[in-house]
Amino acid sequence: MTLSSSISMADACSRDWDVVVIGAGPAGTVAARQLALQKLHVLLIERKAFPRYKVCGCCLNQRALSSLQAIGLGAICEDLGAVPLNSFQMRFNGREATVPLPGGLAISRSVFDERLVQAAIDEGVCFLPETTAILKNSAEQDQTRQLELTQQGQPSGAVSAKMVLAADGLGHPSLQQCDDFESTVSQNSRLGVGALLASDDFSEYPTGVIHMAIHKSGYVGLVRVEDGRVNLAAAIDRDFIKQSGSPTAAVLAILQASGFPAFSEISEGSFKGTIPFTRKTLRPVGNRVFVLGDAAGYLEPFTGEGMANAIADAVAVAQIAPRGLVTWDHALEQEWLKKHHKITDGRLYWCRWLALLLRLPVAVGIGLRLFHLFPAVARPIVARLNH
Ligand SMILES: Cc1cc2nc3c(=O)[nH]c(=O)nc-3n(C[C@H](O)[C@H](O)[C@H](O)COP(=O)(O)OP(=O)(O)OC[C@H]3O[C@@H](n4cnc5c(N)ncnc54)[C@H](O)[C@@H]3O)c2cc1C
Repeated sequence: MTLSSSISMADACSRDWDVVVIGAGPAGTVAARQLALQKLHVLLIERKAFPRYKVCGCCLNQRALSSLQAIGLGAICEDLGAVPLNSFQMRFNGREATVPLPGGLAISRSVFDERLVQAAIDEGVCFLPETTAILKNSAEQDQTRQLELTQQGQPSGAVSAKMVLAADGLGHPSLQQCDDFESTVSQNSRLGVGALLASDDFSEYPTGVIHMAIHKSGYVGLVRVEDGRVNLAAAIDRDFIKQSGSPTAAVLAILQASGFPAFSEISEGSFKGTIPFTRKTLRPVGNRVFVLGDAAGYLEPFTGEGMANAIADAVAVAQIAPRGLVTWDHALEQEWLKKHHKITDGRLYWCRWLALLLRLPVAVGIGLRLFHLFPAVARPIVARLNH
């Protein structure tokens, strides 16, 4: 069953909004809810029908769970039957290492994100799904921002807001008409590829374990989610996908080379992809616009930190955004840049190193042998990424 709109298009277009939030991923839904809790009028616009699939490893780390707890959403994962994670098993070239991974949970994005939208609606957020929002350019003195809306590819209306949060994920497609949100994309960025797979026999992929197949051209993660299905998410070099002939063939080649068993549902599964994901929005703020979550930049899925960052960004933006409704100024923009960089930059160092090491087969081989012989060595690394 799809989650229906809580407002009609005509009604959405006729009101003056304090805040329009674009994108109903973790960044957008949590920010919208936090703003509604402060009695602001918030419209949340999402281009897909909900629930929707999203390419993601579906693992929430402890940092993400603590943030949800802090804003009163700590119980939702348990209510949804999220699977507790206990270990992380890596395989490369037939070698294997398993390290303990306490405290995380696995949950499919369709179920998790839908529940977050419901939590936002419960606090008074108006939700308009199956609607694509495009922000129009503005002059510096403009007191409101205008957005064009389309449904099924047809112009359907326009809304106006005192402030806009762009939480529309990789590449921030809603900002394509605006000049001031330039992005850089890393030349060797990988593509995300994923599918949710059902089978009668997943005995090779036990519940509670993240299985990670590592290869010089990418990696494939598999984890069981709340309904027993396997969520597969991979980050693969573009050239390797081309060489292999398809994303499915590339996934199968990586599993085979690493030593993980393939299963027939992979060949039959329908894979979805992302645009190149290693990217950064140079200045994730503009006149009455905050950019957050993946829309502001994303580096490396291996660390499993994307949702934690998105939620932390959302909580942080909701603390300062109400001031922008009174006065939007340079100081507020600077404050957002500082907060956003504090959330993401401290972890960039680790992510960059990890991303680099994962591309070096010798380093991966040595690392795995080390973790296999001395699992305790991995503990501080896992703890650093988890918190
Ligand atoms: C292969 C891979 C594996 C990953 N594994 C993990 C993991 O295990 N754990 C983890 O924490 N993170 C993981 N991530 C990262 C995680 O998926 C993202 O960081 C997270 O989804 C970011 O949330 P967000 O709310 O910023 O964006 P999103 O979740 O992408 O949400 C953006 C929303 O905006 C909507 N939208 C886009 N454009 C418009 C528009 N113009 N108008 C209206 N709506 C629009 C989209 O439909 C979407 O619903 C992984 C990523 C990849 C690629």
